[in-house]
Amino acid sequence: MTGNIKNLAVLGSTGSIGVSTLAVAKELRGVRIFGLSGHAKLERLMEQVKEHSPQVAVCTSQSTPTSEGPSRIGEFGSDWNGRILWGSEGLVELATAPEVDIVVAAIVGQAGLESTLAATQAGKRVALANKEALVIAGDLVTKAAKDSGAELVPIDSEHSAIWQAAASGRREEIRRVILTASGGPFRNFDQQQLAAVTVSQALAHPIWDMGPKITVDSATMLNKTLEMIEAKWLFGLSPEQIEVVIHPQSIVHSMVEFVDGSVMAQLSPPDMKLPIQYALTYPARMPGPAPKMNWDSLFRLEFIPPNPLQRAALALGRQVCEVGGTSGAVLNAANEVAVQAFMDGKLSFLEIVPSCREILEQHQTIPNPTYEQLLAADCWARQEMNQWILA
Ligand code: NAD
Ligand code: MG
Repeated sequence: MTGNIKNLAVLGSTGSIGVSTLAVAKELRGVRIFGLSGHAKLERLMEQVKEHSPQVAVCTSQSTPTSEGPSRIGEFGSDWNGRILWGSEGLVELATAPEVDIVVAAIVGQAGLESTLAATQAGKRVALANKEALVIAGDLVTKAAKDSGAELVPIDSEHSAIWQAAASGRREEIRRVILTASGGPFRNFDQQQLAAVTVSQALAHPIWDMGPKITVDSATMLNKTLEMIEAKWLFGLSPEQIEVVIHPQSIVHSMVEFVDGSVMAQLSPPDMKLPIQYALTYPARMPGPAPKMNWDSLFRLEFIPPNPLQRAALALGRQVCEVGGTSGAVLNAANEVAVQAFMDGKLSFLEIVPSCREILEQHQTIPNPTYEQLLAADCWARQEMNQWILA
């Protein structure tokens, strides 16, 4: 750290969370963009480099500067004198660079695991959006944080809410946490309507504007399933301590119930800038660009128990929380492949959850897996899901 200025590495800066992070950082005193990374949207990465002049930019879609990209990388601008790094090696180099204080882990899916784990092992503050890293390897990541002294702080709005609400009591005084779920665009659809869901319908979330994978996950409810597992690892909860309630307005971002029955909630308009900012400024709170609540007009907040279809998706989260081992890696990988297949028109919306369940059931869980065993389980689940789709 240089004085009071904190150096940020934003991994996945070209995505939805990455872009919001840069918007927050621009308005905050005391943070500087040290490094950025982008995968497919090179144009956006180049614009970000021009705007934020980081010391390092990582292009992850190629591992060497020999293929098509480099000439375009030249367009970063002649007056930029930072370094360009490549591939997953470059990403790990940025995530562990001694100059970096805070790593914003905002890559989507298993692709974010290696760099999230590396940042944690290097003892950084890891502002975690990449929930999949905890779903796959929660045990390894949380153990690494303990060993290195890394601070694992949530960006996911529900977990940020729990983190903030939990500050009202002691850890051992928490009875349970209640994760809120918007219910996605198909909250009121029946089985027949769900069977006919199209990709564009699934990508039109009623409240949140997010990347495509998490938007589909929100529609299937598997996002909440992954968040149950994320909550287990972040807060050391047992499966029975994690409840889910549908809250269509997405104003209450989650709640903590203490042993005396008191329930603490965190409220704010649905906008990721607030949880991102809190992960950067914690333990301080600062004025920032997140929208504020408007109490001048009438609004209502609803809380609805999940329906049987939603419960079926959530049951997978409970199962993974109970079984542990390689099961999270399997659920995550099966889901990643299923979501891509749905977006490619190869799998129907209603097949996503049952296919994940089937693959999870076929898997022989390995307890206390190594990193390599987790990657092997991920690989196995991807193959199984690809076969399921072809069958
Ligand atoms: P996104 O698709 O908008 O962005 C993903 C980012 O990851 C991009 O920068 C992309 O370049 C990068 N990326 C993609 N594939 C990669 C690969 N193979 N290697 C390296 N980088 C790669 O996704 P998002 O909505 O910003 O979500 C990012 C993470 O944050 C996800 O884990 C998601 O679950 C979580 N999250 C997002 C939101 C939200 O509001 N968007 C809210 C809570 C949690
Ligand atoms: Mg969330």
